[in-house]
Amino acid sequence: MARPYDTTRLAQVHARSIQEREAFWAEQAKTIDWMKPPQQILDYSKPPFSRWYVGGETNLCYNAVDRHLAARANQPALIYISTETNEEKTYTYADLHREVQTMATIMQSLGVKKGDRVLIYMPMIAEAIFAMLACARLGAIHSVVFGGFAAPSLAARIDDATPVLMVSADAGMRSGKEVPYKHLVDEACRLAQKPPAKVLMVNRGLAQCGMVAGRDADYAALRTQHQAAQVPCAPMLATDSSYILYTSGTTGKPKGVQRDVGGYAVALAASMRHIFDCKPGEVFFCTSDIGWVVGHSYIVYGPLINGSTTIVYEGLPIRPDAGIWWQIVERYKVSAMFSSPTAARVLKKQDPKYMTERNTSSLRRLFLAGEPLDEPTARWISEALGGTKIIDNYWQTETGWPILTAQHGIEDTETKFGSPSFAAYGYDMRLIHESTFEEVGANEKGMLCIAPPLPPGCLQTVWGDDDRFVKTYFSAVPGKYLYSTFDYATRDAEGYYFILGRTDDVINVAGHRLGTREIEEAIQAHPNVAEVAVVGVADALKGQMPMAFAVLKNPATVQTEEGRKAEEKAIMATVDKELGAIARPGRVHFVTLLPKTRSGKLLRRAMQALAEGKDAGDMTTLEDPSALEQIKAVLKT
Ligand code: ATP
Ligand code: MG
Repeated sequence: MARPYDTTRLAQVHARSIQEREAFWAEQAKTIDWMKPPQQILDYSKPPFSRWYVGGETNLCYNAVDRHLAARANQPALIYISTETNEEKTYTYADLHREVQTMATIMQSLGVKKGDRVLIYMPMIAEAIFAMLACARLGAIHSVVFGGFAAPSLAARIDDATPVLMVSADAGMRSGKEVPYKHLVDEACRLAQKPPAKVLMVNRGLAQCGMVAGRDADYAALRTQHQAAQVPCAPMLATDSSYILYTSGTTGKPKGVQRDVGGYAVALAASMRHIFDCKPGEVFFCTSDIGWVVGHSYIVYGPLINGSTTIVYEGLPIRPDAGIWWQIVERYKVSAMFSSPTAARVLKKQDPKYMTERNTSSLRRLFLAGEPLDEPTARWISEALGGTKIIDNYWQTETGWPILTAQHGIEDTETKFGSPSFAAYGYDMRLIHESTFEEVGANEKGMLCIAPPLPPGCLQTVWGDDDRFVKTYFSAVPGKYLYSTFDYATRDAEGYYFILGRTDDVINVAGHRLGTREIEEAIQAHPNVAEVAVVGVADALKGQMPMAFAVLKNPATVQTEEGRKAEEKAIMATVDKELGAIARPGRVHFVTLLPKTRSGKLLRRAMQALAEGKDAGDMTTLEDPSALEQIKAVLKT
């Protein structure tokens, strides 16, 4: 039995963060540098809009780069590793300072001013991070769009944010193959109603890159011109906007999350200490992409604000082989690593020797977020890594930093497999019954909500649409003014939270409400299952019927029709045993790939639509279209 939450120091810190909210966050604010200290810690006069550190002036780039020059000019700030182009390059804080100023000057020469939007559509290369930091330096608002998104998705994001400049590259690389971007940039600019006046191209020499006269500028040429440029950090109000970032689009049209400057800087600085327990000078390796919130917060701003070294990795987890990440951990003595359950499941299909044969003893903790971390995967990776602790953390693009997580920088509490532990300081959580709208008791399922005001770092609003912000997030619970996460959770008697899945992933089988996540967890217990998705399909008799799509570790077992039937039966029997026959899927289909968003989340709504013979819906964030083709094909069987 784990120690009950109430008896922890963590619980005391958390209670204080809510009861003495302003005093708590005033203390946290001291760990960043201010050009002008805030006059008011929180202005919550217009709920649900919280304005943190009113009157304060600061700059994200100053906090991430300039302020470290005195003590860490020669310390690596950013280590760029590409297993796609076989490049590796280290930038010290002094190098980063120089590169960012050069980039900022180039942006100025292309007309970028404070408050303007800049769209960054780039692969995972150092220049992408220079561009983000250059925007922050100038006070321009960046909107990073995942490199390789199709032209219509890019065009929609151009029209939403109306950038004056787009920064792009000739190509990304995936699995050793070039993914050319320029034709997508050109096509998106053609499709957009309000295309950017200028496009800055970083030419990596990977793909043909025809330049549009008068619009396109070449980064390499301008860089030589502006090599020694100096640009001061623009003083930004804490409540100004720093960036726009779209949610993953797992449940529908992506929402443009708008973030502030001061609250975000403080929230990230605090999280690096309290949650990630990473010291200045230590190495932080986040395997996400700058196109996602995890990349914004924990590849770029978090580690740099903290004075740590960040690793920027371009490539797959299994190329050249499944040992690549652990080789990086060994070589750079990585202290903390951040990845996704999806990546962990990819590695689980490989031999654990890739992890055990490396010296990963520097790695204190591996943080995983973005999707439910099923217990078998958590156990597997924990065993393969030996001494490294696995920390499941739950959050959203909207919040910018973890909502539910262990906070080992405050206290080294025990973790439980399948649980992201406790509420982070600053988050006042409520678990609300879905029909009575009352708070639920221990082990009872509820909608996971946050009582406002939201803490620093969370979204200011939905870009250009305050109304959508209020209506989307604050009206799910009638009669109570709460921010809804749209996820179900339980809290056990010891205070540990468990995420059960999204509120729209619940299915109703003959009057029984079942979470697709629970069924997936049960199926994961079958030893040959690497990954599985369960959806509810309309059924004349039962209302809805669970249907499973499974990826096998060893697909050879389902080569023959006989083998397929036997495996399907075995999986159904596993569900019977774990959950009962009521949850048994009507069918188990076998595929080699599941449809996911580019951020690695299962697109259950698309599988469900196809299974019901409908159109798959908004697929702009789909990673690999062939996954949907496979689903269509097996549905015919
Ligand atoms: P959209 O809101 O556009 O439909 P999205 O919710 O997938 O997309 P993100 O903000 O990237 O966009 O993802 C946040 C969601 O991811 C959470 O609401 C939750 O459903 C899921 N999630 C994140 N971390 C965890 C975790 N540790 N365990 C379980 N689920 C998680
Ligand atoms: Mg969401």
